[in-house]
Amino acid sequence: MPQIIDGKTISTAIKDELKKEVAENNIKATLAVIQVGNDPASSVYVGNKKKACEYIGIGSASYELPEETTEDELLKLIDDLNEDDSISGILVQLPVPKHIDDRKIIERISPLKDVDGFHPESVGNLCIGRDGFVSCTPAGIIELMRRSGISIEGKECVVIGRSNIVGKPMALLLLANNGTVTVCHSRTRNLKEICKRADILVAAVGKPKMINRDYIKEGAVVIDVGIHRMDNGKLCGDVDYEDVSDIVSAITPVPGGVGPMTIAMLMVNCVKAAKQVK
Ligand code: NAD
Repeated sequence: MPQIIDGKTISTAIKDELKKEVAENNIKATLAVIQVGNDPASSVYVGNKKKACEYIGIGSASYELPEETTEDELLKLIDDLNEDDSISGILVQLPVPKHIDDRKIIERISPLKDVDGFHPESVGNLCIGRDGFVSCTPAGIIELMRRSGISIEGKECVVIGRSNIVGKPMALLLLANNGTVTVCHSRTRNLKEICKRADILVAAVGKPKMINRDYIKEGAVVIDVGIHRMDNGKLCGDVDYEDVSDIVSAITPVPGGVGPMTIAMLMVNCVKAAKQVK
């Protein structure tokens, strides 16, 4: 039986630690959460983020804007929130409608309030090993491994996916933790062979159950970032869990693995933002 990396328990532990820190140090923080339009999946994510704020004892301010909000209106709101001392972190739920340039939005958020870690300054800090806000999903994966006793140093790490929010920051974090890192993507040749070298394999490919045992070295640690809803209503990841579970040494389940960590790390960033303002 592999070690099941329990993101639910670990994320709850992180949130409980934050709750204690917020209460003991009387930390005042408010996360501004902006949603443009009413995509149902985004509404669920936004709701979960607000619930997490409440759980750890910080405020959240909700801005639910209509689908037809212009880019200028959204930029103006971000400017106002950047100036507002009562707001410690700003999050714009992505994706935004197509008529809005998400890069402009991300770049407008003050780097001091960039709790998603998507601003180019935050990414630059991560790249050169300076302290700053780190994208929540990859930061959560590092924390999952740390708290599960899985060391990264010297390990052959393979990341499948090179998106700005998961694949690239994941690779940088593994490197910062002294892993030997390979990044694979849609143009990679010999994907299976490269994945089979991995001591730690991170799948952020966005394709349900694509990664089966043919991609896995015996005893590998497998981190599954994917989230997909199957026809039967159940969730699955990018990894075919049943197919690989007898050859891996440790694996994150879907649900209950990486998913809950993303919000826990967002809360870590919110508390960090609030402390920085003090
Ligand atoms: P994305 O679509 O932006 O990126 C997918 C990456 O996979 C791309 O870089 C692409 O080059 C690569 N890719 C696609 N097909 C490939 C193939 N056949 N072979 C090799 N590489 C291939 O996705 P993303 O935003 O990085 O998210 C990846 C997955 O993680 C999705 O399933 C998403 O839903 C999930 N996700 C989960 C969380 C969470 O909190 N658990 C957070 C973010 C994303």
